[in-house]
Amino acid sequence: MDSRLEKGGFPLEGINLALCENPLPPLEEAAGAIRNEACISNHYTEPYSLKLKEKISEYAGVPVDNIHINAGSELILRQLFSLYGRKVHLFSPTYYLFEEIAREKTHIFLDEEKGFLFDMKEFEIPSEATLTVIVNPNNPTGAIFDIKENVSIIEKYPRIMFLIDEAFIEFGGLDATDLALKYGNVVITRTFSKAFSLAGCRVGYAIANRELIKHLDSHNDAYPLARTAEAAAIASLEHLDKIKERVITLRALAGDFARSLQGLGIKTYPTETYFFLGKIPHMKADEFAKALSGKNIHIRPLQLERLGNNFLRFATSTPENNQLVLNAIREIFEVH
Ligand code: PMP
Repeated sequence: MDSRLEKGGFPLEGINLALCENPLPPLEEAAGAIRNEACISNHYTEPYSLKLKEKISEYAGVPVDNIHINAGSELILRQLFSLYGRKVHLFSPTYYLFEEIAREKTHIFLDEEKGFLFDMKEFEIPSEATLTVIVNPNNPTGAIFDIKENVSIIEKYPRIMFLIDEAFIEFGGLDATDLALKYGNVVITRTFSKAFSLAGCRVGYAIANRELIKHLDSHNDAYPLARTAEAAAIASLEHLDKIKERVITLRALAGDFARSLQGLGIKTYPTETYFFLGKIPHMKADEFAKALSGKNIHIRPLQLERLGNNFLRFATSTPENNQLVLNAIREIFEVH
């Protein structure tokens, strides 16, 4: 699968469970900030989006000098791969982008029998690897992969860069920011695309040692964000209580949705986020996806090495949409 498809490629109408977007719109306060800032967009932001860096510093509990901001975390991930990604060690399944941009790669294949979970104490890396990526919580499973259960491996391989992708950290799991400050071979990436509902604003950041941050800053536009995007991110951080409430709502919706799917015979796997893996009982996943798209509901089958054609990533939508999806699946299962 092409990682571009994860971010778009579907019409806005219909119900879209194929993307990993937050189904809720930006906070009112973020939308208001965008409108205000639009009128003064003849002006640049301050260099390196310093105002937002200061807010992130407060939010993440790390010094400003350890933060790099860019227009979406994907740009940062790509840059980190070009710096360190000669031989990459990945979990599978994980975020498709990494499969796509890794030059040489090795894998830990997650086990269906174990619900695609993994005991991080068993995490090992080929010593010739130059980069390993841990997505916490993972995408597409939504499960937690906590490097803090195995910090000694970071010390064991000081020449391997540990990239911890915390795109979904607001939904669950322990953040690893302290490790990025302590170890020169740990870098964390995060985004405002998920918990903050700002995917279309394109705001991401990295937390790492000062030398790496300086390198990332100096190899980028010193004005990486639109004024509107920067203001939306700041406004969202100023209303964290609302973001936290939404996280709880989305997780509860995902739990209800998973239970309803189980009632239809679809096996679902553990998640700490608003999306999860499902296994279709008596149809191929691509046929199932095609039948749903005939009903204007978009979902994407997983097509991965060592994984049968039965798995899809489901994401919760609104309760009304979830009900429409469940009705549509019931109809499809009656025919197949
Ligand atoms: N990391 C993970 C695990 C993701 O799922 C995504 C987007 N789906 C990204 C990074 C990239 O997000 P963005 O470029 O919007 O910050």
